Amino acid sequence: MNQETTMETASNAHQYPADSVLESLSTTSDGLTESEAAARLETHGPNRLPDPARRSIVVRFLLHFHNILIYVLLGSAVITAILDHFVDTFFILAVVVANAVIGFVQEGKAEKAMEAIRHMLAPRASVLRDGQRRSIEGIELVPGDIVLLEAGDKVPADLRLIQVHGLQAQEAILTGESVASEKHTAPVAPNAAIGDRTCMAFSGTLVTGGMGKGVVIGTGADTEVGRISGMLSDVDVLTTPLLTQMNVFARWLTVLILLVAALLLIFGYFVEHYDFAEMFMAVVGLSVAAIPEGLPAVLTITLAVGVQAMARRNAIVRRLPAIETLGSVSVICTDKTGTLTRNEMMVTSLATRAHVFSVDGIGYDPNGTIKLDGVTVSPSDHAILEEVGRSAVLCNDATLQESDGVWTIEGDPMEGALLALSGKIGMDIRQEMAEWTRTDIIPFDAKHRFMATLNHDHYAHASISVKGAPEQIISMCNGQRAVSGGTQPLDKQYWHEQVEKFAAHGQRVLAIAVRPVAPEHTVLEHSDVDGTLTLIGLVGLIDPPRPEAIQAVAECHGAGISVKMITGDHRGTAAAIARQVGLQNPETVLNGADLDNMNDAELAAAVLNTNLFARTSPQHKLRLVMALQSHGMTVAMTGDGVNDAPALKRADAGIAMGMKGSEAAKEAAELVLADDNFATIVTAVREGRTVYDNIKKVISWLLPTSSGEAMTIIAALLFGMTLPITPIQILWINLITAVTLGIALAFEPTEIDTMRRRPRPRDQPLLTGELAWHIVLVSVLFICGVFGIYIYAIDRGYSIELARTMSVNTLVVMEIFHLFFIRNIYGTSLTWKAVRGTKVVWTTVIIVTVAQFAITYVSPLQNLFATEAVPLFDGMLIICVGIALFTIIETEKQLRLSFRRR
Ligand code: ADP
Ligand code: MG
Repeated sequence: MNQETTMETASNAHQYPADSVLESLSTTSDGLTESEAAARLETHGPNRLPDPARRSIVVRFLLHFHNILIYVLLGSAVITAILDHFVDTFFILAVVVANAVIGFVQEGKAEKAMEAIRHMLAPRASVLRDGQRRSIEGIELVPGDIVLLEAGDKVPADLRLIQVHGLQAQEAILTGESVASEKHTAPVAPNAAIGDRTCMAFSGTLVTGGMGKGVVIGTGADTEVGRISGMLSDVDVLTTPLLTQMNVFARWLTVLILLVAALLLIFGYFVEHYDFAEMFMAVVGLSVAAIPEGLPAVLTITLAVGVQAMARRNAIVRRLPAIETLGSVSVICTDKTGTLTRNEMMVTSLATRAHVFSVDGIGYDPNGTIKLDGVTVSPSDHAILEEVGRSAVLCNDATLQESDGVWTIEGDPMEGALLALSGKIGMDIRQEMAEWTRTDIIPFDAKHRFMATLNHDHYAHASISVKGAPEQIISMCNGQRAVSGGTQPLDKQYWHEQVEKFAAHGQRVLAIAVRPVAPEHTVLEHSDVDGTLTLIGLVGLIDPPRPEAIQAVAECHGAGISVKMITGDHRGTAAAIARQVGLQNPETVLNGADLDNMNDAELAAAVLNTNLFARTSPQHKLRLVMALQSHGMTVAMTGDGVNDAPALKRADAGIAMGMKGSEAAKEAAELVLADDNFATIVTAVREGRTVYDNIKKVISWLLPTSSGEAMTIIAALLFGMTLPITPIQILWINLITAVTLGIALAFEPTEIDTMRRRPRPRDQPLLTGELAWHIVLVSVLFICGVFGIYIYAIDRGYSIELARTMSVNTLVVMEIFHLFFIRNIYGTSLTWKAVRGTKVVWTTVIIVTVAQFAITYVSPLQNLFATEAVPLFDGMLIICVGIALFTIIETEKQLRLSFRRR
């Protein structure tokens, strides 16, 4: 073919036969060599969509000013400037700019973190390179690569299909059609629409069923999605329902503050006959102090800190609101295999009609011994072992690899374990696979729980090998392998007893069966394996529980969260593992079939006290989620397969496995576990609770502080007193504390008892009566403290400037003590740990302290703020006021806590 027709064939691959497409891309169905792939990567570039256009830095910075709170502040700045109060203008603008800078910087950090997360979620692709199956990063794909697809995959590039087995793909992103379309390999008409190009699989679409193999014809921007990629910029906004709610609240609060300010202005001018300009400045000061302009930025930071903390611990948040939901989870429904267990499988027992063998070895190393009653046997003495081994190799999609004596697997760990078993039986895996070519396959699916392959050798023999869940396989057999080698009638009872025995030890049990067929037989159908198989043996695999899962389950129970195991495995195996990881009530097990016999009401009643569900299929998960939700529970549900997607979507927190999970499950989930580990779910819940607590702390500190500052001025104006703190001083306090203390709480670590509390009800409002009471209490104490010191100073005959300086410092000291109080809203603040605090807390406290010393003792600043040096004794007194405040609110908290405990 010449260059031009080659190009033509590749870009219109749908209208040409698969063979000529392969030829035009200079590749074969065995894939490219690694070196050729590397060379092509150079020319074609990475398989990545061009980045969506981002807003310019300037625009993103300016967006931080786009907020009614800030508008009001800017308005005040303009008015003060008109009134020639330039220092005030400066402080108002300073707080606005500081907030924008902090918000901007933190947003940048959060975006970097999200970027990193997106990278962690980068899809992988299964390809053939050098004739071997490999898993590579999706961006490394090049035209000519052979890609293997299976249910749940996201198609990684545009492919011309060369082999399909019931392959179906959902192509809504390209065609808008949500019904999956069936795929074939035959060419279609040149002018076929995208949705009708059934021999193609398009990048970004989801494989919903079957399996297939295709050659890459286009990558990156050269794909169908690449052509429309402008539409697909998914920019995450850093917000959650709670934050939105808080922003709305802050807006109304601003309106309220402006109203109060206006009334006060009228009152002061007409009733108290204050000078208008002076009055006006006081009102501006109080409004600026009362407006929680820092709130949006701090809440965003809190959220960003949470997302980053979770990502560091392998919990990847895909949708930000999930952080909130995770904090209120009251039941976790989890898979068994790989989540509670390690998913490092090893065959340890093998039962045939006549014997039960035990198998030794380490990991996936295919060397080891087979024993009978403790004595090592030679596999060649037992012909049946070889038959088990052959089927285990043929009905298998995994591969074993060795480097430096360490054996690893590519593919399903259980299948890897079967390959290792065959090795121990003395079989040559490669040779076996070369001798028996696979002609057709029925892939494993969670609904049927078996997998079958049809293989032909070079001497016109054909045979079907089947492996799967024993109940399923036994029901598909009518005979069993006799000791003599022939077939005899099936002794169902014997096999079921063996299954129970293996399962009782927590082993996962697989049955293996075969059926010879005529060599002309080349297509495998479900009817071929129905009822006519010969059972050869059972294998028992161990998959030890993860030690950290045991601890995590206990932590959940302490936190009032119930843990339920939903598995496709046998009830005996499930119960044994449940006991090992410490699930409650492991005796009660419901099978998928039991669930089918229950209506929704019966299920809802049964679901509360049952923690174990065995032999379930994905659709049961959906029903279980709904049954739990009917009790008002907040449900977290894990899943990995494409069929789990509906349950994940329905659950309050859908959790997908990062390693063994399909792309379909990840897309449906809110959270992805990078390490597939149950303990990571619990970590995420803990972080979720921490974020919620911190949001609550930020609000509990900020609102009383703002209101305390404002109330001081309001009280003075109402009672016609001289202001104990001047407007400019209030603006100063507002600036210095907003950019320091106000932010410290976003970085608070988890409190000790965070996982000892019951889950918070989902609809619990953030602004509870308790919080309202706290605001009132603290505001009143602030007023008492400030006025107390002020009156004391005036009484002692101090100048009004000194009295005011003392008031300002009192207010700041009280804010600092209040901060230490807030750090522990659920426990005592009088522990060494609480006082030691965090680096952020102490850094901010030091900054504020230094700043206060500066305005109190440095003479140019004294001129600016009209302050005077405070004598040592009075300084001590001010600190005592802080201690008094702390003592009162801490005592009040302890009283409240002890009432609640009762
Ligand atoms: P789990 O909840 O433990 O992940 P699965 O749904 O993966 O359960 O599997 C359910 C059952 O299906 C297993 O107990 C096993 O008997 C069978 N099974 C699992 N994977 C395969 C496979 N690749 N081939 C054949 N049978 C399988
Ligand atoms: Mg599984």
